[in-house]
Amino acid sequence: MAKEKTVRELEDLPGIGEATAMKLRNAGIDSLDKIGTLSPHELSDISGISVDAAKKVIQVAQESVNINYETGEQFYERRKQIGKISTGSKDLDSLIGGGVETNGITESYGRFASGKTQLGFQLAVNVQLPNNEGGLGGATLFIDTEGTFRPERIESIAKSAGLDPKSILSGIIVIRAITTEQQILTLERADKLIQEKNVKLIIIDSLTSLFRAEFVGRGALGERQQKLNQHIHRLQMLADKYSIAAYITNQVMDNPGILFGDPTTPIGGNVLAHAATTRLYLRKSKEDKRIVRLVDSPNMPEGECVIKITTAGIAD
Ligand code: ATP
Ligand code: MG
Repeated sequence: MAKEKTVRELEDLPGIGEATAMKLRNAGIDSLDKIGTLSPHELSDISGISVDAAKKVIQVAQESVNINYETGEQFYERRKQIGKISTGSKDLDSLIGGGVETNGITESYGRFASGKTQLGFQLAVNVQLPNNEGGLGGATLFIDTEGTFRPERIESIAKSAGLDPKSILSGIIVIRAITTEQQILTLERADKLIQEKNVKLIIIDSLTSLFRAEFVGRGALGERQQKLNQHIHRLQMLADKYSIAAYITNQVMDNPGILFGDPTTPIGGNVLAHAATTRLYLRKSKEDKRIVRLVDSPNMPEGECVIKITTAGIAD
């Protein structure tokens, strides 16, 4: 009997040659796991192979995917390795369980001037602090989709903390994306940068604005959500692979369907609601005060706290 060969790539699947593999990759099906979740009809439609052949391919793909498991105890040990970045506010840090966590996505949403970007600036500075001072001793990859990155702000936040602004600024790699393609590609190609610059925090400010501008109308909604979904999964993958924290900002839209309470809903629908590990809702209060509500967290209760936005950055 012929020895079974190990299946690692699409081309290793029975009856999948280079051309078919390319078709699949072009359709976003670039891994065995993805093949494993398709129905035979879907795979046949995308690749052009027969439904019967597709059945066999899916079966082989499913069998070759390693499902990694660990016990709750092992998982807990691994959780203890998770790093946290201080937000600059003790109250906010305790609200979210010690700070913005690595290996996960923290989202803040809220109206304009609610402090989403300012919190990002503060994290971009704080992540550079040593571990025992609320940082992770690493750099930030700052994907700016709105043109609101301000080195002057970083400078004054750093100075106020007694840090060298020049060195802090050199630890922030800013990429200005003006199309969703640029935004997506930045993450697709981030591996090398992350390793070379010891990136410990990825900020996307904002995650959704370009998607919202480019995919207009009901007809485009499906495609928008699909792209957004892939993008955010890529972010989660990078966060896991390199143990880095991800901080994304998101706008809100007025939801006229709600008559009582706060009629604002974050953009991105379910795609984002499920992807973000921790969700924060930021609201303006008096003067420099902002109310932060923890809306969703896997291990902390819902709650609120008040922070301040000052010249020195985020404070209690
Ligand atoms: P948008 O949705 O428009 O992007 P945002 O939530 O990102 O809004 P931020 O840019 O984070 O809003 O917050 C803007 C607010 O931060 C300003 O209205 C101001 O109150 C405060 N702010 C900005 N710079 C300073 C500063 N140097 N000193 C004190 N407060 C500042
Ligand atoms: Mg902003």
